[in-house]
Amino acid sequence: MVSVADSTIEQIYTVMGYIQDVLDIVRRRNGNEPEFLQAVTEVLESIEPAVEKHKKYRDSKILERIVEPERVMMFRVPWFDDKGGVQVNRGFRIQFNSALGPYKGGLRLHPTVCLSILKFLAFEQVFKNSLTTLPMGGGKGGSDFDPKGRSDNEVMRFCQSFMTELWRHIGPDTDVPAGDIGVGGREVGFLFGQYKRLANEFTGVLTGKGLNWGGSLIRPEATGYGAVYFAQEMLKTRSQTFEGKTCVVSGSGNVAQYTIEKLNQLGAKAVTLSDSNGFIYDSDGINDEKLAWAMELKNIRRGRIQEYVRKFTGAKYFEGRRPWGIECDCAFPSATQNEITAEDAKTLIDNGCYLVAEGANMPSEPGAIDLYLKKKLLYGPGKAANAGGVATSGLEMSQNSMRLAWSREEVDAKLHNIMITIHKNAYETSVEYGQPGNYVMGANIAGFVKVADSMLDQGLV
Ligand code: NAP
Repeated sequence: MVSVADSTIEQIYTVMGYIQDVLDIVRRRNGNEPEFLQAVTEVLESIEPAVEKHKKYRDSKILERIVEPERVMMFRVPWFDDKGGVQVNRGFRIQFNSALGPYKGGLRLHPTVCLSILKFLAFEQVFKNSLTTLPMGGGKGGSDFDPKGRSDNEVMRFCQSFMTELWRHIGPDTDVPAGDIGVGGREVGFLFGQYKRLANEFTGVLTGKGLNWGGSLIRPEATGYGAVYFAQEMLKTRSQTFEGKTCVVSGSGNVAQYTIEKLNQLGAKAVTLSDSNGFIYDSDGINDEKLAWAMELKNIRRGRIQEYVRKFTGAKYFEGRRPWGIECDCAFPSATQNEITAEDAKTLIDNGCYLVAEGANMPSEPGAIDLYLKKKLLYGPGKAANAGGVATSGLEMSQNSMRLAWSREEVDAKLHNIMITIHKNAYETSVEYGQPGNYVMGANIAGFVKVADSMLDQGLV
């Protein structure tokens, strides 16, 4: 006779076994895609309680379906450099899941871009977009083109060639790309211009557009501001504020810049910035004036962060290093994936850090996440903490559809509310499933359930 306890054990074993079986399939099919496997493993293992609770997900093979992109495009991007030489890059667009709306997700231009990285980003994007509460599916794209050291004309010729293939796959109701690493206002402009020529239509086909031609106020600020708003909500659960907190920030691009701007507004002190060559440490704090200088350096002169210490001589530069050894209360990884190892996480925690809010996508390696959870840090995973960027892209799409523009205050208030809601959903879901404050589980389950239920509603998709 099988007792109640036995049958419960059997059921739990079956669900975990089922998830491992699905992961085996994913490993077999995508063995050479480590970042994608990492992202899928993290999501699937953390949603186990929801899969256990709802048998319908197993019966309808939702997990097997949700790990397969709906469509993957990979294409040649030939372009002329300034010397008249032919250059050839590889372009991609992953249309991962459209259960909740048109595919939505950024374009990344970086030499490391490959199928694995874009599939991991697109997969994450599906659940992130679900958390925003806005009607957006998940996608991602980009190229191994390296904009560093390229002239404006070279970047334009590359973007035009890239869009010459991409345009047939996207559209305001089909797939709406945006920026990511290496794609800011300049690149979105060149991409939009070429789309307009080819499609002969002026529509909101890209977000992150210039203010004069359909862009939204606050979109440039949104990811950084949103990460700080999310962190603020996490602090509130311990009755704390940002006043007087020391913060370590990595990266020096879009997300890092506006993270620091918002931290300064809330009375915190950000002390680091980095790029792929090293990091600067300014123990006096990167105040608004220094930040404005750094923004000019990175966005206009396109220089290296090392130059900061020549201008502000009290700061120090550390070549080839990441900033995780600097003492802090809060860390905002805002550069790239896997930039915090388990060892870095241990150093951060040993030095007193108790909050990590991920502006970047998947910046923490699995061992680092295990430590955050074990030590009960306030840990906001990227798909929740950095969802403000895509949420404001969603707001840009709404404004484009209505052909009107909201004020800065209106968009900021909507962004703030969305971040509060994302935090609330993730937190309440973590409570519902018995692990209060585990935002990894909370965000993954909250994001997953909405996508999975919508897929079920839509038949065998
Ligand atoms: P960005 O403006 O291009 O800046 C990226 C920054 O990260 C630069 O300082 C860059 O340094 C550094 N970086 C890039 N790759 C690196 C690597 N392999 N090792 C060390 N440093 C590296 O890009 P961003 O928009 O701020 O994006 C940063 C992160 O946020 C990414 O993970 C992105 O997916 C995520 N994110 C962005 C948005 C958004 O709205 N932009 C939204 C959600 C999430 P170099 O100048 O040396 O390359």
